This record gives sequence, structure tokens and C-alpha cells, in this order.
Amino acid sequence: MNPRTLSLRALLFLGLWQTGWRSLASAPELQDPPKKIAVVGAGIGGTAAAFFLRQEFGAGVKIDVFEPGSVGGRLETVKMGDYEYETGGSVIHPLNLHMKHFIEKLGIPPRKDVPTKMAIFDGKELTFEESNWFIVNFLRMLWRYGFNFLRMQMWVESILDKFMRIYQYQQYGYSFSSVERLLHAMGGDSFLTLVNETLEETMISQGFSQIFLNDIVAPITRVNYGQSVRINGFVGAVSLAGADSGLWAVDGGNKRVCTGLLYHSKSELISARVTSISVKVRPSKTGATTSFYEVNYVDASGSAHSLYDIVVIATPLHQGKSDIAFSGFSPPIPSHYPGRYHQTVSTLVHGLLNMSYLGTAEPASKFTVSDVLTTDTKGSVINSLSSIDPVHIPPGYNRPPASQTKVWKVFSQHSLTQEQLQDMFISRDSVSETKWLAYPTYHPPHRKTPPFILHNRLYYLNAVEWAASAMEMSAISARNVALLAHHRWHQQEGKIDQEDLHTRLRGEL
Ligand SMILES: Cc1cc2nc3c(=O)[nH]c(=O)nc-3n(C[C@H](O)[C@H](O)[C@H](O)COP(=O)(O)OP(=O)(O)OC[C@H]3O[C@@H](n4cnc5c(N)ncnc54)[C@H](O)[C@@H]3O)c2cc1C
Repeated sequence: MNPRTLSLRALLFLGLWQTGWRSLASAPELQDPPKKIAVVGAGIGGTAAAFFLRQEFGAGVKIDVFEPGSVGGRLETVKMGDYEYETGGSVIHPLNLHMKHFIEKLGIPPRKDVPTKMAIFDGKELTFEESNWFIVNFLRMLWRYGFNFLRMQMWVESILDKFMRIYQYQQYGYSFSSVERLLHAMGGDSFLTLVNETLEETMISQGFSQIFLNDIVAPITRVNYGQSVRINGFVGAVSLAGADSGLWAVDGGNKRVCTGLLYHSKSELISARVTSISVKVRPSKTGATTSFYEVNYVDASGSAHSLYDIVVIATPLHQGKSDIAFSGFSPPIPSHYPGRYHQTVSTLVHGLLNMSYLGTAEPASKFTVSDVLTTDTKGSVINSLSSIDPVHIPPGYNRPPASQTKVWKVFSQHSLTQEQLQDMFISRDSVSETKWLAYPTYHPPHRKTPPFILHNRLYYLNAVEWAASAMEMSAISARNVALLAHHRWHQQEGKIDQEDLHTRLRGEL
């Protein structure tokens, strides 16, 4: 990492990026602020959008957030015994600055850290088990894979350095009209290449060995995205960063950030499913016509509709994820964009692990591994098996060894059968299954990513998931969409799709 990047990171960490640079950079307001904004979906994307829209448009605008399910979306907890556990999005990277900023702003602490330990299972036996000693791990990796491991860390770090540029751009109020432009602003052509080739192609062309990809990289993509090394290189890098040290979670559950953002943004939560959106033209006081979006929705008491100046869609427009009809738009807006969401089943088991399932003779009382990742072996049933800790760590808590009954989380593509559960566990007190359409099925080369701008003042936040799906990606997209909505409302074109921002802003720090 070069010293200049270091200083940028240091400043970002110190929180200076939250100060008033924006006000220096903003152009004068050109027209009245909007009166009503709708956000569709109250996951981390929708609630972060409400937060940033309030920041951009001020106290006067009414913001309604539509959500038929629970606030949090893919951030969800389930109760097993006395404690709650994450069943959806669980870990956050230490350099995810929006997530960090949210918890600071909301006064929520991070969850107390419990050290983790990883092993790799090839369907028959454990092929690798992390030692408590860094030097032992280092020497084992060096012996088996040469410098592949170190080089992988350097490669991920170099991508992360470019990724971090987005925070500076957003702090200065710059926004991007498409996922491709956003990626290009961060990492130039190299980021566009990354989304258009597989992680495997990228890493092989960088000189990583196939055996390293099979033994180490594939288990990481399987636990994080339920998919092989044929996911795109960008989401692959995000996945590998997700194996870094220092990962954290929110005390009491990650979904607390969503409820906190909703409250902080002073938005109104409307417990309803949006069914359709259409454009309505109305005469205005001056005699000219103004267009609005009519949002039709269904709640417990039936169907209703409201008019909005701006609408942000914060749920994937894909089969099985949402079903919103867009009428009267030219060109037409599809209810479902091409591409599928990948099913990941999250099964939480409170029970006693069957050590022989892992093909190890190690006594269960000595087995303190928290995360068993799996290689991409034909016929392998599970993507990962993890010993998980409650969302709030009670005082004096230590993760119990495998000889004690505790909560395990199994990720698999399909529901586990009774026989499979019986193979894995000697006993089961309770089992809870959540079937997620979790993240896109990544198949590079990439078709065109869905747009951020669906219509004049109608925006689509989850387009970003086709580059990579993660809490922070939704938060970055939320900020981008809020800025975009603001600049387009006030015709501040100079703040949209600016080229070469990295060089232009270099002198500003
Ligand atoms: C099992 C699993 C593990 C994961 N692990 C991680 C991880 O460790 N770290 C990480 O960063 N990310 C992880 N992710 C990804 C992360 O959870 C998602 O990228 C992120 O939560 C997406 O948030 P979102 O708000 O964009 O979408 P969502 O959370 O899907 O929110 C969309 C919301 O819109 C609502 N909605 C749908 N249709 C309508 C409608 N018609 N009208 C109104 N509302 C509607 C839905 O009910 C939902 O609440 C994981 C995901 C899963 C499933």
C-alpha cells in the first residue's frame, strides 16, 4: 500500500470524510425541493436510501418506505433456545465505511469479537485446519502453495485500494448514472474487465495456480456466494476480502441498522407491498403540466395508491424477488430483468456435531474450529458448516468446543434432508431453515447490468448487485442513488458521471 493511499484511508477512518466538504462543492439550489419520495423495500439498501435522501433533500420532504415483510430484508435473525442468531447477511468488512458510519451515527456498538478458526473439508476429510499460531499457518501455506497466498492478499488489497475511492467521490457529492460508470470511476477499465471475466480466468491470468484456486479460493466463494470460482472477478475479490481478518457484525443483529436508519431518517414505514408504478401527468398552478409517479400498493386493509415526485426501488427486480408492474413508461420497464437469484438455504441446528462426518479422528472436546469451508467437489451437499455465536455476546461467553451442544449454521443450495442432518449431527434439539434467494447467480461475461435510472425520477438501487451483492454495496448504491436523485432534480449535471475524478480529487487531501 503506498503512503498516499494510507493517508486517504487514515483520514477516512478518522471520520473526516463526514465533514463539510460537500457544502464547498455544492452548486446553488435551482428549484424547490420535492414534496414526496417513495422508497420500495426496507432492507439495508432502502433504509440507507431513506437516510441519504433525507440528508440530500432536507427536513421538508415526506419520505415513505414501503415494506410488506420485516424491516431488514436479507438481514434477519432467528431465535434458537435463549439467543438470536444471524441467518442472512452476517459479516461486515472493517473497511466498509458506510456500515461503520451508520452504527456510529445510530449509537449501536459492534458485536463483541469472538476469535474464529477455519478448516477446509473436501467431502471426505479435513484437508486444512487453521492453527492458533500465525507462523504455523504461514509456513503451511508457503509449503503447499508457495507465494500464492501472500500474492492473493496483495491482489485483494490493490482492488480494495481502488474500491475505497468511492467514499471520497461520494463525500464530494459525485454520483454515477450506471453501475459500469461507478465501477469505472473506482478502478478504470480493470474493474470493468473484472466483472466481465470469471474469478478463475482473472486469477489464472495473474499467475495463481489451479490447485490454489481449487483448495483455497473455491471454498471462500462457496461460503460467501454459494457459487464456484466462475463468479465474476469483482464479486470474487469482494468474497476474498470477506475472508480478511477484522470482520465484524452489529451488536444485537445487523438488521438493527435498518430500523435505526428508518427512525433517523424520519421516514414513514408503510407496511404494504407495492404492486405497480405508473406515470401520471397533472396540471400545475402555473398552467404547465407536472408528472408524478403513482405507487399502487396492497396492505392489510386492501389496495391504495399515492403520488410521489421521486421513487427509489430498493428490491431486486427479478423473478421470485418482487413483482412490480410498471405501466405507461416508454421505453417499457420490465418487472423482471434477465438473470436469476441463487438459492442458498441457511439451516440453523442446535445440536451435537457428528465429528466422523468431517472424517476427523480429532476428539470433539479439542475441536474449536468455527468455520468449516468446503471444496467444489462433485456431489458435495453443503457449502459450509459454521459454529455461530449469538448476535449479542453475553458476558463471559466463550465459543464451546464441538463436544458440547451448540448452534451450527449450514449453508447449502438445497434443503437438507433428515438423512443428511442425521449424518451431520448426533443429536438435534431444534432446527430452523431459511430459504433465501440470496444473491445473483453470477455468469460472466456480463450482460448489460440493469440501470440505476429507470425513468426521469425513478431509480433502481439493486442494479449494483450484479457487480457484487453485499450490505456495503447496497449502502454505496443508496448513497449514489440519493445523490443522483438530488443532482437530477436540481439539474446539477456537473456532479454526474465525471471522468477522471481520482486524478482531479488527488490534490484535495
Ligand atoms: C444467506 C445470506 C448471507 C449473506 N452474507 C452476507 C455477509 O456476510 N455480508 C454481506 O455484506 N452481505 C451478505 N449477504 C448479502 C446481503 O445480505 C445483501 O446484499 C443485502 O442485505 C441486500 O440488501 P437490500 O436492502 O439491497 O435488499 P433486501 O434486503 O432484499 O431488501 C429488499 C426489501 O424489499 C422488500 N420488497 C420486495 N418486494 C417488495 C414490494 N413489491 N413492495 C415493497 N417492498 C418489497 C423485501 O421484503 C425486502 O425487505 C448475504 C445474503 C444472504 C441471503
